[in-house]
Amino acid sequence: MEEVLLVKFGEVALKGQNRYIFENRLIAAIENNIKDIAGYFISREIGRYIVRAETGPFDYDLIVPKVASVLGLVSCCPCIRDFDKDIENINNLCLFHMQNKYPNKQGTFKIKATRSHKTYPLNSQELAAAVGKHILDNTEGLTVSLTNPDITLIVELRNYVYIYSEEIKGFGGLPVGSCGRAMALLSSGIDSPVACFLTAKRGCLVEAVYFDSPPYTSERALIKVKDICATLSAYTAIARLYVVNFTDIQLKIKEKTPQDKFTIMLKRSMMRVAERLAVKNNCDALITGDSIGQVASQTLKSLAAIDAAVTMPVIRPLSGLDKQEITQLAQKIKTYDISIRPFEDCCTIFIPKHPDTKPKISAIENFERRIQGLMELTDAAAENVTVYEY
Ligand code: ATP
Ligand code: MG
Repeated sequence: MEEVLLVKFGEVALKGQNRYIFENRLIAAIENNIKDIAGYFISREIGRYIVRAETGPFDYDLIVPKVASVLGLVSCCPCIRDFDKDIENINNLCLFHMQNKYPNKQGTFKIKATRSHKTYPLNSQELAAAVGKHILDNTEGLTVSLTNPDITLIVELRNYVYIYSEEIKGFGGLPVGSCGRAMALLSSGIDSPVACFLTAKRGCLVEAVYFDSPPYTSERALIKVKDICATLSAYTAIARLYVVNFTDIQLKIKEKTPQDKFTIMLKRSMMRVAERLAVKNNCDALITGDSIGQVASQTLKSLAAIDAAVTMPVIRPLSGLDKQEITQLAQKIKTYDISIRPFEDCCTIFIPKHPDTKPKISAIENFERRIQGLMELTDAAAENVTVYEY
């Protein structure tokens, strides 16, 4: 008998001929997340991955959080496994699991059995019934409830038999890197970290660009962004952070633009720099944390004016989410507490009192053309970046 962690994956299993690419990515991501802990490795089972300890016992408290945070996983289950699938052995292992995990438990249980080899002498119902009877006969205080049990004990027959009663949910999605690479505009706010996470969850490797405006923005805002990246990297949801000095562009725009157009112009310049960085680093899309209608620069007309500055597709994973939904996600992925620290990023300085919510693209382009040196500053900003690896 061996203590292991059984890993379930969902959508990866549906990917037909490309399945091996998705699987290899997923295994690589799990390996990456546990690489700093000596003595654990991954092996394959029919339809499952198994994390094993070179020598027992298995430290679930240490390993489970590292594995459960890998994108593309449905769940993971601390379990015992054995090669001997004889019914007597299975009965004894199940009894051992129940007595060991729930000593002196008063309550109800149910057995759920599955078989990947249909040649096994008992079918799933017979197997579940046999195990259930063995547990009933050898414990006190436990009774069967098929509808609403306190404990569901699962017996999976694969190359080995797996026995478990606890399932820790993962995030689902696709393994990072299986669907290309995208460049996210990452601020120190609540929204864009969630947008990065959701994009990574759909299999994109995310690189991020942060626009810094010293001395108008505090060093602490940059620290927030770095802390957010470190948090996102636990899900392998971020690969790299590019920090762009945006002060000159911001001052130039402020000086030469009517106040109500300031934010749109600023965002267009951000997009241009981000697109240049994206092209240079093989990214195929830009990601932002905009949510439709949240603020003046997020009306459909404003978003259209912003997107017209670039040709690359701009993906907004939060388009349809309310602030409350975004906040809940931010809490779940643990970026929220970092984002609400008080130091603001560049979008909150020089904010106009009455921003234009229906900007005309042609008018914006005219203003931009009149700002001498703006494109040169944009090129320079994209050339002069500080890179952090995660
Ligand atoms: P967030 O919470 O992500 O900051 P927000 O609701 O505050 O978003 P805005 O400040 O208008 O909205 O920003 C909209 C989007 O523009 C952000 O989600 C982000 O993608 C991008 N963005 C804004 N400021 C920056 C910045 N300083 N660096 C990089 N991207 C930025
Ligand atoms: Mg913001």
